[in-house]
Amino acid sequence: MNWRNCRKFDAHVHVLPGERVDQFLANEGSEAPWSRCGAEDFLRRMDRFGIEKALLLPVNDPFLYYHDPDRTNRFLGGLVKAHPDRFRAFADVTASGAYFIEQTPFILEQAVEEYGLCGLKIHPTNLHMDADDLRLVPVLRKAADLGVPVMFHANPCRLGFHDNCAPDKINRMIQIFPDLTVITAHLGGAKFMDAVTGCTWADMSYILPKLVAWYGLEQVNRILRAFGPERLIFGTDFPQGEYDEYFDILDQMDFTEAEIEQIAWGNITKILTPEDRI
Ligand SMILES: [Zn+2]
Repeated sequence: MNWRNCRKFDAHVHVLPGERVDQFLANEGSEAPWSRCGAEDFLRRMDRFGIEKALLLPVNDPFLYYHDPDRTNRFLGGLVKAHPDRFRAFADVTASGAYFIEQTPFILEQAVEEYGLCGLKIHPTNLHMDADDLRLVPVLRKAADLGVPVMFHANPCRLGFHDNCAPDKINRMIQIFPDLTVITAHLGGAKFMDAVTGCTWADMSYILPKLVAWYGLEQVNRILRAFGPERLIFGTDFPQGEYDEYFDILDQMDFTEAEIEQIAWGNITKILTPEDRI
């Protein structure tokens, strides 16, 4: 078994509304990463690379999805309903000043109960908040009460705001919400050491090829081992990751077949909805 032929769930994917894809096509051309983010294009890519299921994630960014997070959630819910055997999706929230603490629990509840989404995405930098900002407490409380997981973006992002999504801050929220399932994206980013010692689940999206470029394959194997296969989740951050590159790297790690199954499929399906746990 290798990473090309094993069963795979890409747990970090961005599929954009058609009008956004059209904007990228018009402004940046067909080769630009975000021009390839249409749902039908991505489904063909899943078939080509043997990705059985994908978790679609918003980014709390009104310019990439919609200004109204409820509209983004309806868009993502529509994709899940149209392709229930391929897609799952997490809910969006966007920064809306003082109303954030009042509105977001209801936005999440509606996304989960009416639109069929199964978790929440928090991108602290895009929300202009630290990962442990108290304004996040009501929506995280709601996620815990609904029994849905939360994924925190955790890569340094935008000059001057690196610390917004520091794994240490995510760790604080994990301590405050022991009943909440938290996935730390991108292995915690450049501050991955703080994620190794703290954050619970960790997806390898975006950062894996970067780590190989910085440290080499042997050292990356040690870093992934430090997290351990029982915590690692396969993801690419499509369109910011290429499947061939991921498979080439992962095939050179020392994971056993059982560990590959855990990372590529088992861990994320355990976290998501019961019908995925089969
Ligand atoms: Zn992402």
